Amino acid sequence: MKKILISACMLGDRVRYDGGHHLINHPTLQRWHKEGRFVPICPEVAGGLSTPRPPAETQCKFPILITTQDGNDVTPEFLSGAERTLEIAKREGVACALMKAKSPSCGNKRIYDGNFSGNLVEGSGVAAAELMRNGIPVFSEKELPELFAFIEDSERMTA
Ligand code: SF4
Repeated sequence: MKKILISACMLGDRVRYDGGHHLINHPTLQRWHKEGRFVPICPEVAGGLSTPRPPAETQCKFPILITTQDGNDVTPEFLSGAERTLEIAKREGVACALMKAKSPSCGNKRIYDGNFSGNLVEGSGVAAAELMRNGIPVFSEKELPELFAFIEDSERMTA
């Protein structure tokens, strides 16, 4: 049975910056949850940030700089959370990850542009990028069919 790392907010944990969650109700995900496949983590909480916390966005990728709107540098916490996420993914032997789109930690393809205006740019959150750099595919909640196909193929190959 393949394990899947998941953004904790998508399982209903109230770890979002505003104290909310992003619970996804989908029968397959609910079944996987019951089967114990999910390895939940919130990279920002794992990196030492509290909930609630001010929202943060990526200002620069090279070198990486992530700040809150009032300019507080939270890059160390985000990087620490990304490292912890990778450690847990490796320890648990996850096949892939399901992570929240657009987050500066969890987004896999697009993230906010740093202006706190809701605009998006191409790029990944730091935790998602760390996983992908280490060969762990990351899907978002907008790519559930692709995630389901990936898990089905992986399990067929190892059956
Ligand atoms: Fe959810 Fe990821 Fe944001 Fe944590 S860092 S609240 S897991 S999107």
